[in-house]
Amino acid sequence: MKQALPHTARVVVVGGGIAGCAVAYHLARRGWTDVVVVERRRLTSGTTWHAAGLITQARPTSGTREIVKRSLDIFSSLERDTGFSPGFQRTGTLHLADGAARWEELRRQASAAHANGIRAEPISPDEAVKLFPLLYAGDLAGAVYYPDDGRGNATDTTMALAGGIRQLGGQILENVLVTGVTQQDGRVTGVATADGPIEAEYVVNATGMWGREFGARHGIRIPLQALAHYYIVTEPIPGLAPGLPTIKTAPEYAYVKNEGAGLMVGFFEPGSYPWSPGGIPEDAEFTRLPEDWDHLGPFYEKMMKRLPVLADAGIRLHFCGPESFTPDGLYHLGEAPGLRNYFVAAGFNSIGFLSGPGAGGVLADWIVDGHAPLDLPEADPRRAAPHETNRRFLEQRVSETLDLAYEIHWPFQQRTTARGLRRSPLHDRVAAAGAVFGELLGWERANWYAPPGVGREYDYSFGRPSWFEHSAAEHRAVRERVGLFDTSSFGKLLVQGRDAEAVLQRVCANNVAVPPGRIVYTQWLNERGGIEADVTVTRLAEREFLVLSGPATVRRDHDWLRRSIGDGEFVTVADVSTALAMIPVMGPDARRLLQPLTDADLSPSAFPFGASREIDLGFGFARATRITYVGELGWELLIPADLAGHVYDTLTQAGAALGLRHAGYHALDSLRMEKGYRSWGHDISGGDTPLEAGLGFAVAWDKPGGFTGREALLRQREAGLARRLVHFALADPGALAYHDEPVYRDGVLVGQLTSAAYGHTLGRAVALGYVTAPAPGTERSWFTSGTYEVEIACERVAAQASLCPFYDPASARPRS
Ligand SMILES: Cc1cc2nc3c(=O)[nH]c(=O)nc-3n(C[C@H](O)[C@H](O)[C@H](O)COP(=O)(O)OP(=O)(O)OC[C@H]3O[C@@H](n4cnc5c(N)ncnc54)[C@H](O)[C@@H]3O)c2cc1C
Repeated sequence: MKQALPHTARVVVVGGGIAGCAVAYHLARRGWTDVVVVERRRLTSGTTWHAAGLITQARPTSGTREIVKRSLDIFSSLERDTGFSPGFQRTGTLHLADGAARWEELRRQASAAHANGIRAEPISPDEAVKLFPLLYAGDLAGAVYYPDDGRGNATDTTMALAGGIRQLGGQILENVLVTGVTQQDGRVTGVATADGPIEAEYVVNATGMWGREFGARHGIRIPLQALAHYYIVTEPIPGLAPGLPTIKTAPEYAYVKNEGAGLMVGFFEPGSYPWSPGGIPEDAEFTRLPEDWDHLGPFYEKMMKRLPVLADAGIRLHFCGPESFTPDGLYHLGEAPGLRNYFVAAGFNSIGFLSGPGAGGVLADWIVDGHAPLDLPEADPRRAAPHETNRRFLEQRVSETLDLAYEIHWPFQQRTTARGLRRSPLHDRVAAAGAVFGELLGWERANWYAPPGVGREYDYSFGRPSWFEHSAAEHRAVRERVGLFDTSSFGKLLVQGRDAEAVLQRVCANNVAVPPGRIVYTQWLNERGGIEADVTVTRLAEREFLVLSGPATVRRDHDWLRRSIGDGEFVTVADVSTALAMIPVMGPDARRLLQPLTDADLSPSAFPFGASREIDLGFGFARATRITYVGELGWELLIPADLAGHVYDTLTQAGAALGLRHAGYHALDSLRMEKGYRSWGHDISGGDTPLEAGLGFAVAWDKPGGFTGREALLRQREAGLARRLVHFALADPGALAYHDEPVYRDGVLVGQLTSAAYGHTLGRAVALGYVTAPAPGTERSWFTSGTYEVEIACERVAAQASLCPFYDPASARPRS
């Protein structure tokens, strides 16, 4: 018999898989017991019922590793707290490496895990065999052992969470289809179901592989697509030891674990394909897809060499089930843009079981406290670009996500499917100049330039790739002469209206009430003083401002700004990103290049640092702004898209005599790292304050009316800091860091790198990373004293620490 539908609930969670049940369980534990899980069929009947049950902590980002750690806490406490067992067992995982590159990848991954306090031990092939005696290890370079990993039963875990929800007073409705989300004035008001409406303050979309279509019904884009995903379970294997560590063997694209008296062998194999791309059937329930031995057979056969016991084991189950994957391989967790109190927990890329309990806790805290309990910009639903929900795009891109899951994850690795989508107005011109393109959210971006005769391909390496020297030459041209970038993919928001200044003054920590023609570097803060955005704001006119953001952040910045407009305030925010091309012209000869091309006076006194003006250029014009992200004299030129080609031609023709060089994003990164310019989502995000990030210079403490986050910052200033963003330079010029490497001070783990690059001028790798001191109010000098080391691939490399950049610390060059 169906349970009666409540008329209202504080939170409606749509979807009774592990994610939805985990959100509701944690809400109830936080005292929000007026919560209802609405499930269209039966609990777990989507994808949860067939999860293999692996719980592995080797994840690609610090935030996603923290989520698994939280999940592990819940797996170990769930039985105590609910009386139901999730079937959790701590068995450890062995990740196997078959060659030097993969061995380095695994050791780098282990170092990243160490930064999160996760135990991960590189061991020899012989030691791996001792832990898993059935293994063939003759071809292995090594293994990394994660002793605290485990496994559990996804159905039992979900039922334990459901039991906990009910015990705490929450409700679960099965066999009720949610048909829509109701809203008013940009805020959720409830859900419509096949059995009637439920009013609600909050709605959580935890509909798994239905998430994209469900979101689309009310204008929320959630790029995900179900793919066919396989495992095989053998008949009982005589004498098989129970509780063996899970094996992850990337060379065979496979994992192995005990399953009953046999083994389960699962795959993340190349050649994956979508299931039901036109839409997930409404009646799908406990779905099993047809066996496909032609596809899977060759991978299973390969596994027989790794585990010879498989050759004699009968196959009990050949299972294929659908699971949702996303274009970037990361799930969507958080509040959606454009609709207040609409939260998403979906797109789990086959780690929904191991992430679900932790992710549910994070989302519940987020809803109750009004902010995320940890920084997860990588999972932010606001990152989704409009094209990413295109079916044809998704089919290709998510298949590639699964294809690459067990491949080596190289630094600077580029996707190869669904390319050529978003092109700068200068695309063909920079392509003719030798650009080798990378991709970011559909944008084709010149990452480096191949000189004539050099192939335009990426080769990947954890060391110096073949394009290292070409990128170095671009870097040097910017430092020594002049370089030109095409950064047209940057986000641009036009903010106009009577109250534009008032709104921006409230949102920006810096003072943007400047005269027209000035640019201001600023952060946007939340109430806790954390950095929600890192932008420049140019005042174009009395009631008109231009906000410059990144291509990956423009949608969230747009959303943040729109939410900040109060009732009765007259302001519009328009995304004009594609209307304007952007060419930074940077280097000590930038003035020599530009001055003959314009009647505007570019002299230091007439056009000082921070000035922004529309100038004539060639036969056209551009908005020229004296600002820099590379640490040299230069102008960022914003040009209407139709004039961009002409301005580019004018610059390159005139630049030939000065040795003007095209420079790409890899050079840009090397240049900005030498200067320690922060990047949002890496070095700074919602959990970092400007004081911790060394951006106190951009805080206008005393501007009239204050700004959002000021009180929290004042309290932090009063208490003193326990955590600071520190610049590092590695002592060994051959060492290369990328991100997430742990940092030790006098042998004690004190932090983690947030970004790093090789500094071609400094001749060594430079990085930024947070260091945490024992207590608030620690002296500045503590952060740079002591002996620092950075752990790379499980080896420690000496590092120099500084609170100012290693290159041009006084910033004299951009002001010259
Ligand atoms: C072969 C295979 C092996 C796997 N192995 C592992 C593993 O070892 N470890 C791991 O972590 N993960 C694994 N996974 C992935 C894991 O199963 C999923 O990531 C996880 O179950 C996703 O949970 P969910 O709650 O997001 O989605 P689901 O379990 O699909 O739950 C979503 C629910 O929403 C309901 N719903 C949809 N639309 C509506 C609506 N309109 N109204 C009401 N209800 C609705 C659905 O009926 C469904 O029950 C595996 C997946 C597969 C296919």
